[in-house]
Amino acid sequence: MEDRYGHRISYLRVSITDRCNERCTYCMPRELQEWLPREDVLTYEETLRLVRIAAELGVSKVRITGGEPLTRRDVLTFFQELRSVPGINDIGISTNGTLLARRSANGLTTAQALRLAAVNSVNVSLDTLEREVYAAITGRDFLPQVLEGIDAAIAAGFPLIKLNCVLMRGRNEDQFVPLIQYAAARNLILRFIELMPVSTSDVLSDDNFLPVAEARRNLESHFGPLIPEPGFRTNGPSTYYKIPGREQRIGFIGALTNLHFCESCNKLRLTCDGKIRPCLGSYLEFDIMKVLRAGATDADLKRFFLDVVERKPEQHDFRENYQPGRMMVAIGG
Ligand code: SAM
Ligand code: SF4
Repeated sequence: MEDRYGHRISYLRVSITDRCNERCTYCMPRELQEWLPREDVLTYEETLRLVRIAAELGVSKVRITGGEPLTRRDVLTFFQELRSVPGINDIGISTNGTLLARRSANGLTTAQALRLAAVNSVNVSLDTLEREVYAAITGRDFLPQVLEGIDAAIAAGFPLIKLNCVLMRGRNEDQFVPLIQYAAARNLILRFIELMPVSTSDVLSDDNFLPVAEARRNLESHFGPLIPEPGFRTNGPSTYYKIPGREQRIGFIGALTNLHFCESCNKLRLTCDGKIRPCLGSYLEFDIMKVLRAGATDADLKRFFLDVVERKPEQHDFRENYQPGRMMVAIGG
């Protein structure tokens, strides 16, 4: 699949739930959230069918996200089935990490079970190492579980583990250096992500938005000039640098301030309620669940994917202060 701007689509990000056991301020509003009714969420079988169709059209990488994907029932069985979809050779998960260390009846941690299901990359959100700050950002006092979860992921032997830290002025600026040291000690890749205007309308303001360039300057005043690594990529829009005198790499995801952000986009998103979104930062979404449940053939579904790709915008609308009608938790970050 290739869009009008020459983006070759090889990556599908699949949200399997809008539910979450945390309440991050930038992702979900504080008020009690109404979850989608079960019947409005794609079944695993439906999701796997759509992944298979996408794979036949050239998708080889899938990342499972949410909400918190590990809160969905029977998620490990879903991952085992995902690995057998022909053409999918790179499976990742984005998680808040809270459930990675949980053990099943067979004694395995969730992280080990994911690794056995051929998941090769795990992204864990970690905005701070301070327990109180963590609780204030996520609405839950789960930092100890997350740190245990990261240890469980390391012990499970994933080839790639990344930590994602959302940049928030006045909230976690003092955490960047400690997070870098934490990642260095465990040989993990840490990425700093600009706050995006998704979710609630007050998520992004001039007071809390911290551009990646400023974060980089702050880090350089501590570590010295960071060394660009233009050749290093992990299949996403991050730009990587090395810390001087170390092998450690850190990434910056400047969704708003990097004007080249969309140039190498290779992604489509499938929301848990069966909408295909050609771009996170655009209102466009297309209801594939409706056609799927109306009895579409594989050929119909392929045509649907191709039509969506045809409409993929050249770049996102975040700089127009885009505020979608849907929360991030329901889109799948
Ligand atoms: N629950 C999982 C987690 O927290 O990693 C997966 C879903 S979450 C929506 C995926 C990623 O989106 C997380 O790294 C989170 O920090 C990021 N995210 C959520 N809202 C965001 C926002 N408004 N701006 C930037 N990143 C955001
Ligand atoms: Fe949940 Fe992840 Fe959103 Fe936080 S960022 S509320 S953990 S889905």
